[in-house]
Amino acid sequence: MRKTLLKSLIEGPLTEAAPGADDAELAAFAAEVDRKARARLGRSLAIREIDAGSCNGCELEINALGNAFYDLERFGLRFVASPRHADVLLVTGPATKNMEEALARTYQATPAPKWVVAAGDCAFDGGVFAGSYACIGGVSAVVPVDLYIPGCPPTPLSLLKGLIALI
Ligand code: SF4
Repeated sequence: MRKTLLKSLIEGPLTEAAPGADDAELAAFAAEVDRKARARLGRSLAIREIDAGSCNGCELEINALGNAFYDLERFGLRFVASPRHADVLLVTGPATKNMEEALARTYQATPAPKWVVAAGDCAFDGGVFAGSYACIGGVSAVVPVDLYIPGCPPTPLSLLKGLIALI
């Protein structure tokens, strides 16, 4: 045990250092989102997140949009608990058989005009879960998709870029 502790002190951590945050790029996108959100939406876009069968990797990145660094709400973009209050459905994961009806009903419950954003490679075509007995395919197998955001998982900055494209 002592030998292992000594070795860890000398060699340091085995994990890679975290990549430095690109503050300049984030600031540029933040300004762009803010400008477009004000012009098109009057500073308000309500997003309902739906996990259609994700491994939760995508959710971790989506959660990061709400932290103090990305702080999505400063642009008037916010997550809501009900599809009846939503403009955008942000869907992650492959469309699983168990979530098919829930996803379709959530879409029907969202008032028009509405947009569907499929986030992550699984949401595009099933990703690593494609071909599974539990999956139907990508999100478009159940509801019409307006925008795909690629990545496994997509980074918070990719999600921001996607929202800019949508706006
Ligand atoms: S795209 Fe990657 S992180 Fe997202 S649900 Fe699929 S496997 Fe998980």
